[in-house]
Amino acid sequence: MFDLGATTPVLADFLAAERPTVLDALAGWVRIPSIGAHPVHDRDVATSAEWCAERMAAAGLEHVEVLSTPGHPAVYGDWLHADGALTALIYGHHDVQPVDPLDEWDSPPFEPTVRGRRLFGRGASDDKGQVLCHLEAIRGLLGGHGPGAVPVNVKVLVEGEEETGSPHFGALLEAERERLACDVVVVSDTSMWAADVPSISTGMRGLVAFDVHLRTAGRDLHSGVFGGAVPNAAHWAARLVAALHDRDGRVALPGFYDAVRPLSPAERSAFAALPLDEAAWAADASVGCLEGEAGVPLLERLWARPTCDVTGLHSGYGGDGVKTIVPAAARLKVTFRLVADQSPEAVADAFEAWARQRIPAGIRLDVHREATVGPALTPTDHPAVAALARSITRVWGAEPLLTRSGGSGPEEALGRVLAAPVLHLGIGLSSDRIHAPNEGLDLDQFGRGVLAAGELWRELAALPC
Ligand SMILES: [Zn+2]
Repeated sequence: MFDLGATTPVLADFLAAERPTVLDALAGWVRIPSIGAHPVHDRDVATSAEWCAERMAAAGLEHVEVLSTPGHPAVYGDWLHADGALTALIYGHHDVQPVDPLDEWDSPPFEPTVRGRRLFGRGASDDKGQVLCHLEAIRGLLGGHGPGAVPVNVKVLVEGEEETGSPHFGALLEAERERLACDVVVVSDTSMWAADVPSISTGMRGLVAFDVHLRTAGRDLHSGVFGGAVPNAAHWAARLVAALHDRDGRVALPGFYDAVRPLSPAERSAFAALPLDEAAWAADASVGCLEGEAGVPLLERLWARPTCDVTGLHSGYGGDGVKTIVPAAARLKVTFRLVADQSPEAVADAFEAWARQRIPAGIRLDVHREATVGPALTPTDHPAVAALARSITRVWGAEPLLTRSGGSGPEEALGRVLAAPVLHLGIGLSSDRIHAPNEGLDLDQFGRGVLAAGELWRELAALPC
């Protein structure tokens, strides 16, 4: 394992010498079933936090502490002896996704197994392996080399609730704002375009989600006795859904696109430079055709444009045979993905007003807001982005291309609360099958991730605070 480019000799030597120990550590952490969503695994998530704390201390980090929250614990550690250099806060998470369907795994999800050049197991790529890149890089630099061997001040924060939507993370950041203060945030929880096409993500979409209830009558009514004279909840739900987009695939809420920051010409050409086979992409998504905003390229639709998806639609009878009713109730789940500089609150208000306007008096409409995440965007001209790009170039032997992520996560809160740019040093690959059966981590990417962490600190140390 570990096909390494030409980089920091200290870390390359360290990896060559420590290969079995590093692999053992990865396997040891993956073996802990820290599934955040299942209360039966609460104790395992706590064990995972303790494991992480021990590993931080072993790496040479100080002030290591398991930070309890009303939910699952986070872990913190730091090394603050690079006087005069900037401070980087490294973020990752130690909770993992559920593992079902279990029978689709080729080896049990919590029995880490190396096949070929991958280590398979839940959490190997998302996100224990990516966090471990940093911890092992710190261990490699601090081990036996004394203070000063990491050229920047590092703080490491490993969350325990990322996979369940980070419900207490914002409050944790606010409460720990002083201890977490930093010049730059480094998130390692994303993917690269491909192992031979390294990339840097610079943005994540925001999200606002709704649970919408419609009620047209006090009870389901006989369609022969009442049909034709009373409102039908299924029809009104369908009218709302059909009106959400216009014929060009654009979201029809008034003013929805007003605040959208246009792509810079540099980013547009960076996206266009990514090698993308749309037919293969569609096949991978298992769809027979693509859609979306007319005239907008696929990657821009995914990363730089806001969207709306109805994620659930329920009304009336769905069983076998005939049931002659006029349904009295309908329920919709609606999610908007947002981009800079849209405000989740403004979109939420606009959606609610739009829905109320379309539903006549006499039909009850309840709109509940269920989740709100702001969009995050790292300025591509920030010197720290250039520093990250140089680090990646040195390790992967190719200049990274710019991407964004269509998803939403705690990165927005990190950047906002800590008032620092968020860098994404993500070493995952789409073939890692995160959140799915047979999740695995490419061990060459893992080794390069350790080196890239060391390179990044060297580059960041050269920047002014
Ligand atoms: Zn993750």
